[in-house]
Amino acid sequence: MTITLALSKGRIFEETLPLLRAAGIEVLEDPEKSRKLILATNQPDVRVVLVRASDVPTYVQYGGADLGVAGRDVLIEHGLQGMYQPLDLNIAKCRMSVATRADFDYAAAVKQGSRIRVATKYTEIARQHFADKGVHVDLIKLYGSMELAPLTGLAEAIVDLVSTGSTLRANKLVEVERIMDISSRLVVNQAALKLKREPLRQLIDAFAAAIPK
Ligand code: ATP
Ligand code: MG
Repeated sequence: MTITLALSKGRIFEETLPLLRAAGIEVLEDPEKSRKLILATNQPDVRVVLVRASDVPTYVQYGGADLGVAGRDVLIEHGLQGMYQPLDLNIAKCRMSVATRADFDYAAAVKQGSRIRVATKYTEIARQHFADKGVHVDLIKLYGSMELAPLTGLAEAIVDLVSTGSTLRANKLVEVERIMDISSRLVVNQAALKLKREPLRQLIDAFAAAIPK
């Protein structure tokens, strides 16, 4: 019974390695050095597949992978159909925030009930957030470099991930509202959890015991 784990390259791969190690699993190839998309491990029946961060839920939902690690942001945008979300792994931590140019009075715009143009890759999170606040927004979908939108007049505000704030600062933007804390979660295909119950249980338990504080 082979177990397939979907990870994205970069921080999620790096920060999942210690959890895998705690479960006795060593990945045998370095994704930064190899072009392989399927990585073997020291366990003959465990393999890692490398996919785009936003494709992890799709692989797990449809059984292309038995389990995966994805950001809370990605999971909210995709939805949790066909998946269990047994663990918050407390890795890849950052926050989702609203940012504007320093000379835009966000609080006043909200108070006056003005329509605000908001550019973001995270339209579902933004839609829910502004609906909860009763703020009228026109959402503009972007796929990257959100910081550019307020600087060019495409939008007054952006909704984006922030960790240190240095990207915002470099573009003279200010964080005006925190929407939610973000971390990465383990997600498991629902059918796989029934069919491969024992090995998946063991893996989930080992991960649970190794979650960073
Ligand atoms: P892609 O590069 O495929 O478009 P991405 O840029 O969202 O996707 P990553 O940058 O690897 O992919 O981010 C993966 C996850 O890590 C995100 O979904 C988010 O949950 C989290 N994350 C993103 N940026 C940061 C950050 N600066 N610090 C900590 N965690 C982050
Ligand atoms: Mg990125």
